[in-house]
Amino acid sequence: MTEEGMWSDLPFNVGLVYEGERIRGKQTYVELGGPKQPAKFELVQVKDVKDIKDMDVEIIGPDIPDMKEGGNYPIGVLVEVGGKQAEKDLEAVLERRIHEFSNFIEGLMHLNQRYDIWMRISKAAVKKGFNSLKMYGTVLARLYKSEFGKILEKIQVKLYTDPDKIKPIYDNAMGIWEARDARARDLSDDEVDMFYGCTLCSSFAPSHVCTVTPGRIALCGAINWFDARAAAKIDPEGPNFAIPKGECLDELAGEYSGINEITKKKSLGEIERVTLHTILSPYNHTSCGCFEAIAFFVPEVDGVGIVDRNYKGTTVNGLPFSTMANSTGGGKQVEGFVGMAIEYMRSKKFLQADGGWNRIVWMPAGIKNRIIDAIPKDIVDKIATEEVATDLDSLKSFLKEKNHPVVKNWVEEAEEEEEEEAAPMVPAGGMQMPSMVPMMGGIQVASGGANWKIILKGAKIYADEIHIKRIQPKKKKKK
Ligand code: SF4
Repeated sequence: MTEEGMWSDLPFNVGLVYEGERIRGKQTYVELGGPKQPAKFELVQVKDVKDIKDMDVEIIGPDIPDMKEGGNYPIGVLVEVGGKQAEKDLEAVLERRIHEFSNFIEGLMHLNQRYDIWMRISKAAVKKGFNSLKMYGTVLARLYKSEFGKILEKIQVKLYTDPDKIKPIYDNAMGIWEARDARARDLSDDEVDMFYGCTLCSSFAPSHVCTVTPGRIALCGAINWFDARAAAKIDPEGPNFAIPKGECLDELAGEYSGINEITKKKSLGEIERVTLHTILSPYNHTSCGCFEAIAFFVPEVDGVGIVDRNYKGTTVNGLPFSTMANSTGGGKQVEGFVGMAIEYMRSKKFLQADGGWNRIVWMPAGIKNRIIDAIPKDIVDKIATEEVATDLDSLKSFLKEKNHPVVKNWVEEAEEEEEEEAAPMVPAGGMQMPSMVPMMGGIQVASGGANWKIILKGAKIYADEIHIKRIQPKKKKKK
């Protein structure tokens, strides 16, 4: 996609081949944004062409030579574009391309989007002469012009590293993103004939194909149905494309023949079926690595927890976001785990096949407060946070005390168990394991009245057969 000589004035190479390049902590010269920075952003704004100095790149704050090796600094990326065909509707789509274009740079790694951006510049790149952020801005401006030359007449890039200058733009951007997301909230999956797809993240997760519907914003949180539609319209051969709905195969879970067909084609046969609104299906929507949050099944309470990438602690299942992200991402379908956008929690279809909000049992307080207006009034106080539940025991006590809707399932399950007590649990000669157990990273073992949890990291277990024997004391029959 890059022309020979287009980058000859820069000390590093630029091209598709560098997408997917990982820069580890030890290889990093300087880190920009990321979890250590409270305010960071990347934003594209359409402006009047007369207010744009074409191809200009401005650095507002310290540049690379002013930064200490190994340091972490704030960052704000503001791309301003103009042109007769440059419509406001395209801002979100153009903005998401910052991720892709940044990752074309040899020695620069870019993660996430909007208010979550995180970049690393490698020691090797700095050694080669990558000594100014101006070079980064120049690459962005040139790639935008080369890719969107027909609609963008002028472009300028402002790179902020001064936290005092970042804060007001960040605050304003939060309002812009909220307004963008609010547009799709009143529209439902049932009211449109066309869904849209995105494969921008396929370089990191080859089998990942995002389906974007009015009721399911992309898991990165950066592209809603309107954005994907606008992108597919201006560039039908690009990473965003139309998905005719086809036949609705499962209304509750959100399975459509059109999504299955296109996903199979785009994932080169890897993914054959997709369900949009559940995490308890073997055909869960795939997750790349850009998701803002993970929904995870908690089998011990028959509920669903949610953890966002900014939450640093461990969740009630004993695992932090990063551990679950490693197992959930990469384009896989993992039953019991799915990557999603924070905005998806505002959808009327939010995990509707699993019980929606009535199945949510735990989430970090930060996220709960952020979307509190979207949580039904009758459930909001019944959802635990890290402030009241840090492990499974405290979660169970909390849910019981609040009479969370999942609790009634515990009673039903216990009664069913009692009825089944007389029957042997395991057929002689063992039993077939389900293809995927909706539980990750741990095996619960009861022994001598004590509960033990064995965490298996990165393990793959094969068995010809498995015998499961009940070992807890016999329950007394209720009268
Ligand atoms: S997460 Fe999905 S919608 Fe967002 S950029 Fe990646 S592929 Fe596109």
